[in-house]
Amino acid sequence: MPTIITHAAVPLCLGLGLGSKAIPRGLLLAGIALAMLPDADVLSFKLGVAYGNVFGHRGFTHSLIFAFVVPILVLWLGRRWFKASLMRCWAFLTVSLLSHSLLDSVTTGGKGVGWLWPWSDERFFAPWQVIKVAPFALSKYTTPYGHQVIMSELLWVWAPGVIFMAVMIWLRRR
Ligand SMILES: [Zn+2]
Repeated sequence: MPTIITHAAVPLCLGLGLGSKAIPRGLLLAGIALAMLPDADVLSFKLGVAYGNVFGHRGFTHSLIFAFVVPILVLWLGRRWFKASLMRCWAFLTVSLLSHSLLDSVTTGGKGVGWLWPWSDERFFAPWQVIKVAPFALSKYTTPYGHQVIMSELLWVWAPGVIFMAVMIWLRRR
């Protein structure tokens, strides 16, 4: 994974860029939560589930079906908090959740993502890996490798995200 905080970058920059009229605050917060949700599967390590298992890290919570179904469930349960049209809510939540496995697939390590669960247990990577894979232990972030991880996330996720956000805000103000 990129660090969990970096997974929030996609909905955050997209939502703030589009503005609170298009993406109200409640919807923005839900998008951020969904972008981070798939990594709740790291708890499986504590339960002794192997990394390569579908219920292990980057398994079913990183699948395409999870990214399409969970936003529908969230809307079914909490639609009235979002104050935006159903289609817009669904699109924003789905893009937010899907961005998680896409970012994981361009990291330099770990196992790939289980996009095709439940049809296949295969793990996938994108054709190119540019984001240095984040270590699980927080203590590793003080090492030179940890600094490289942070730099690669700033370069490949935060910088384009902030530029996109700034351009969108500028376009809206014109
Ligand atoms: Zn992940």
